[in-house]
Amino acid sequence: MEFIDLKAQYQAARPGIDARIQAVLDHGQYIMGPEVAELETRLAAYTGARHCITVSSGTEALLVSLMALGVRPGDEVITTPFSFIATAEAIVLLGAVPVFADIDPASCNIDPGLIEGRITPRTRAIMPVSLYGQPADMDEINAIATRHGLAVVEDAAQSFGATYRGRKSCNLSTIGCTSFFPSKPLGCYGDGGAIFTSDAGLAQAMREIRVHGQSRRYVHTRVGVGGRMDTLQCAIVLAKLERFEWELAQRARVAAAYDAMFSGRLGMVGRGRDRSSVFAQYTVVVDERERVQSVLHAAGIPTAVHYPVPIHMQPAYAGLSAEGGCPVAVAMAARVLSLPMGPYLDPAAATEVAATLLQAVGEPLPGGADLLEATAP
Ligand SMILES: *Cc1c(COP(=O)(O)O)cnc(C)c1O
Repeated sequence: MEFIDLKAQYQAARPGIDARIQAVLDHGQYIMGPEVAELETRLAAYTGARHCITVSSGTEALLVSLMALGVRPGDEVITTPFSFIATAEAIVLLGAVPVFADIDPASCNIDPGLIEGRITPRTRAIMPVSLYGQPADMDEINAIATRHGLAVVEDAAQSFGATYRGRKSCNLSTIGCTSFFPSKPLGCYGDGGAIFTSDAGLAQAMREIRVHGQSRRYVHTRVGVGGRMDTLQCAIVLAKLERFEWELAQRARVAAAYDAMFSGRLGMVGRGRDRSSVFAQYTVVVDERERVQSVLHAAGIPTAVHYPVPIHMQPAYAGLSAEGGCPVAVAMAARVLSLPMGPYLDPAAATEVAATLLQAVGEPLPGGADLLEATAP
């Protein structure tokens, strides 16, 4: 069993992907070829945002966003300590300071109730992360930002395709950033990312920053980066977009199979009724995680931990402001466990994974002995 089966995904989508790759090889415009604008138009329409700017990775998307917002050395950006390192890294790379607000133990997303107390005259932006594929409490966060004149950048690297109160992730705030890292819900076959906004001025700034701050050829109006997403990767995402809704439905089926087994028996990351998750990860909450992981490993079931150490406890980030030490993030980091997930995982296989896990933690299986026999290897 694979944690995320990218080979099965390629085989299923192969004709479309191969044709798209061949078209790029035939026209030879490897940088800023026609597939780049085509993808940007398609993704903007999908999310409902007016503008989409593809970039070389999700990390670059965050960096370019903050540059366009004018984040400078000494500025502060409020974010969550319970994320992939790139969230805080983009802030630090600009000389700005990540200020951590603790997470909600139910969703593992930033707790909006803790944000306002962390705002200072130096705060420029709030950067929530839509972790595991589920949007953060964006309306509450946007309301705080509006009161204080701040921008909101959604790190939607894990949540492209998710919905929140009838709107799509990436189109929920000033700017939304996503990643096409291969294992993300919508992945390419290398590095890639995209930025979304409905603000024409910010969109123009981000387009320029992506190509070395260039407003016209060899006219550098601002300081930028080399942050383009290449044509081949855009072509691959275009091909994969054709099957994306179907894949999300398959992910939801796998999640439902897990839910049916775990509900009432095991700690799970909570999900709001007003939003959907695209299940970048299906994550449970367990005690004795290492022991549980080794039982699953012995049964041939791969697992992962997202994330074992909160950002404010990483060596390079220690000493940053994390009021009270963000105890919820610390506690969750010790207990979360992500299970195999993906559109090509058979829900019946997910049920077997769940049965093995329930046995490992000493919980009775739903349906009792029947299911135990049915799922015995
Ligand atoms: C994957 C990820 C990123 C970085 O995306 P890359 O494309 O790998 O640079 C940023 N933030 C979060 C929450 C992520 O999961």
